Amino acid sequence: MRKSPNRFKYNLRIFRRAFLPWALSSPRHLWMAWNLFRKVRKKYKFNTQLQGNLDYPIPHSFVLSLTSDCNLTCDHCYARVYNEIKVLPKQALEGILEQASSLGCFFFVLTGGEPMLYPDLLDILDNHSDSLFILITNGTKVSEDVAKKLSRSPNIIPVISLEGGLEDTDKRRGVGVYNRIMNAFDILQKNRILYGFSITVTSENFEQLQREEVFGEKYPYGARLGCFIEYIPTGRSPDPGLSLSPAQRRSFRQWFLSLREKANTYLIHFPGDEELMDNCREAGKGFIHINPEGYIESCALIPHSKYNVAEMPLEVCLKKLYIDNRQCAHLYETLENHPCMNNRQ
Ligand code: SF4
Repeated sequence: MRKSPNRFKYNLRIFRRAFLPWALSSPRHLWMAWNLFRKVRKKYKFNTQLQGNLDYPIPHSFVLSLTSDCNLTCDHCYARVYNEIKVLPKQALEGILEQASSLGCFFFVLTGGEPMLYPDLLDILDNHSDSLFILITNGTKVSEDVAKKLSRSPNIIPVISLEGGLEDTDKRRGVGVYNRIMNAFDILQKNRILYGFSITVTSENFEQLQREEVFGEKYPYGARLGCFIEYIPTGRSPDPGLSLSPAQRRSFRQWFLSLREKANTYLIHFPGDEELMDNCREAGKGFIHINPEGYIESCALIPHSKYNVAEMPLEVCLKKLYIDNRQCAHLYETLENHPCMNNRQ
């Protein structure tokens, strides 16, 4: 599949603002970054070659929900859809990483629940030094020991979720969580880890976010990467009232673009930035999601699937999912005021 100039520029920006400053901050980082770059480029080339011979896409990226378990109980958590805790078996995770690797896939977003509760996770990821892992975590399990391990693994990038300032974060995540997150940022910064933050934008916090004093002196928390993700009503207790209205979305987008122009940190806005990536990249066009039960899905926010990686090879799952998606109208096309809709053709 042809790579669009938009996507190329987008990826280049992330590299320049997020990775390069970290790599240039010490000879050791430079050496680690160069090694990682060489390995990932090799896989990327292989994947591109493979795509040329297939009539369905093999995405570079996977979103893996490793567990539905979490040590927090945030309001409107999308991961809390199961009646009991689900954990992707270790054998299944290793199988996915190996099979995906053999298809040239190199970018994995690990989420939960809380992925840091997954047993031996960092050790498992250490065996895949030719892949890049974004670890979406609530930050409460980041310790000096974890930071030491991360400092040896430049391919694992923790991204800590919060809601902006103390008030909004503690309101949604629980009293005291904001300070625990700030402590995690301090530990990561002290150990010179490349890390990011992620903020869910809702109708409740979007005005607060636009006031600089809400972030306080700490913003952008020493992070090189920051994501602003619009709330999407899903999970067990979805609240459509928390979604931005079209007018709020336009105003937030404008503010975000001016913030990005000024920032040294690389900032991403979803789904707003999908326009730079030529629309949503779900359903294997850019990424797919695998849930804690091993089912492969178009997106973490479209929890409908028939194919399980425990029952058939990953490549077969990808092909079947792609064919299904071409035959069905998009599941969200009937929902009103859904942020993803704005970026669909
Ligand atoms: S930290 Fe994440 S997974 Fe855990 S309860 Fe909060 S939103 Fe859900």
